[in-house]
Amino acid sequence: MTLDDLVRAHPILQNTECEIDVPPGWVPLVHDLATRLEAIGGVRVEQVKQKLGGLRCYLGYMGAIHNAEADRFIDEAEDMAGRTCEVCGAEGSLARSSTGYFTVRCPGHQPE
Ligand SMILES: [Zn+2]
Repeated sequence: MTLDDLVRAHPILQNTECEIDVPPGWVPLVHDLATRLEAIGGVRVEQVKQKLGGLRCYLGYMGAIHNAEADRFIDEAEDMAGRTCEVCGAEGSLARSSTGYFTVRCPGHQPE
């Protein structure tokens, strides 16, 4: 699944406010997250991206009250992303490139 496929599959990601920058290895877990959030309803994703080696997902609430279940789903996805290679989706850990960029990588995809 590509990033374009991900967006096409999820109405929750199709709004003009939405900023999406998800590395290829994390697309499947963001797909799962978006599926779970859509089941809740009343929320939309305003930002989902990699920052400092972590997944960040920010929601907008459409008339709905703050939703603890949505927060929990995001926590779980962020936790999972922290152990998932951004390149291939295999098990990985936080690494730092020579230029100081933080990224989650498996042993086969260590940053330069
Ligand atoms: Zn990898």
